[in-house]
Amino acid sequence: MSKENKVTDLQDIISHAKEYGFVFPSSEIYDGLGAVYDYGQYGVELKKNIQEYWWKSMVQLHENIVGLDAAIFMHPKTWKASGHVDAFNDPLIDNKDSKKRYRADVLIEEAMTKIEDKITKEVDKAEKKFGETFDKAMFLQTNPNVLRNKEKVATIEARFKKALEDSNMDELKQIIVDLEIVCPISGTRNWTEVRQFNLMFSTQVGAIADESETIYLRPETAQGIFVNFLNVLNTSRQRIPFGIAQVGKAFRNEVVARQFIFRTREFEQMEMQFFVRPGTEMEWFEKWKETRMAWHKSLGFAEADLKLHKHIKLAFYANAAVDIEYNFPFGFKEIEGIHSRTNHDLTQHQNMSGKKLQYFDHELNESYVPYVVETSIGLNRTILAVLSNSYKVEKLEDGTERTVLNFPPFLAPIKAAILPLVKKDGLPEKAREIMNELKFDHLCFYDEKDSIGKRYRRQDALGTPFCITVDHDTLTDNKVTIRDRDTMKQERVDISELRRIVGEKVDWRKAVK
Ligand code: ATP
Repeated sequence: MSKENKVTDLQDIISHAKEYGFVFPSSEIYDGLGAVYDYGQYGVELKKNIQEYWWKSMVQLHENIVGLDAAIFMHPKTWKASGHVDAFNDPLIDNKDSKKRYRADVLIEEAMTKIEDKITKEVDKAEKKFGETFDKAMFLQTNPNVLRNKEKVATIEARFKKALEDSNMDELKQIIVDLEIVCPISGTRNWTEVRQFNLMFSTQVGAIADESETIYLRPETAQGIFVNFLNVLNTSRQRIPFGIAQVGKAFRNEVVARQFIFRTREFEQMEMQFFVRPGTEMEWFEKWKETRMAWHKSLGFAEADLKLHKHIKLAFYANAAVDIEYNFPFGFKEIEGIHSRTNHDLTQHQNMSGKKLQYFDHELNESYVPYVVETSIGLNRTILAVLSNSYKVEKLEDGTERTVLNFPPFLAPIKAAILPLVKKDGLPEKAREIMNELKFDHLCFYDEKDSIGKRYRRQDALGTPFCITVDHDTLTDNKVTIRDRDTMKQERVDISELRRIVGEKVDWRKAVK
């Protein structure tokens, strides 16, 4: 299916997701709750399938990775030790005219991306002009426009990095002023000061609302893994290097949350912390970067829609960090972070708890606090990426249009729709027989309402890889028509073949092998 059919308007994707039962605004009958969403009957299946694929890819396929499901509530000291109580802040700025709030760091990064885009455009233009004789490396080193823009980016980057490192909010504001960044809504440069805002939600445990009883909704799942490091080590027979994987809810009081399920206040993370011998972390960092990038490609994302973005500012404890970015309808944005977190978290927990969080390495004959490489991906952002990548409106040969979600078959919510051609003459009964057989393997959908054409279209819009139609001949020859979602080709096959055909098509192994 060609890329031109891809729908790139976020509003269209949001409407389709709602109309077809994928994603609903939370508590919509009360006009919704900002930046919170519910997953409908097909959204929940898509979400479950993505999560299961991640779990299998990480835990089932790696003998040295085990799973965990830690509670959302944790001892409050966890967040003191991890640094979240003191430093889990976003720098925010408001535009006084539009009254809209922005993350100052995001405004600056976007401004830098715009300048970098100018360089890319300049290169593309020259490439077209000079054709095969074009020497890109030389052009990048000598073209005055390119050099000027490169210099500009480097200067901003240095100032930006220092301001973040020093937590210098005045300097962040000054960069915004110097870059003449305008509010996309009001178009003005009438900004407030930049200030820090802690993103953790707090609540009270037990009946007494005492200061000491304040606990937090976890802002990341990772800490549940760190505090269980010893428990898993002592009970799993794992030896370093090994990983612990977890999928679960995380909560952040995001102030700027306007991009559908990309940034929400309640979301799910799929995280894996990989514990390694100190000094080997960069090797593992590179390995996980490659492995995770390959995983994203296995979801059907084009190479051109994925890129790596190196962090400008490393968290003080990290010695390497990179984001995998996907080309969302609103541009390239982070979908997964890969971080080399050194031994910071375990050391912090060791100091705060007084418990030794160390590993005895028999080969080296010494104990150490392991280093950690983390892969952390947002499940909801992955759903949005898969939806954006799959949503197409195609022009057909007869001049009509069809809407289709061409999900990779193993991710599709419904794997096969079973459709009796008419609602009489014993066809529904025969179709039910097929349904009752296939439903043990896959989620199937039985539908006898409306014309067959309309039923096909509905399944296309839900992303169902197969439609299986029972007609009058089926009653005598035991054959059905099976229609492929992508090619729309129809084939007559024996009912006894259906389990194999559907099973092969939706097998997740095809994605990884
Ligand atoms: P961002 O810079 O976009 O706020 P982050 O760098 O704070 O993201 P991490 O703390 O590295 O994100 O979290 C890992 C992953 O969790 C992200 O790559 C993203 O997919 C997901 N994630 C983080 N915050 C949210 C959110 N508010 N809503 C949905 N997913 C999120």
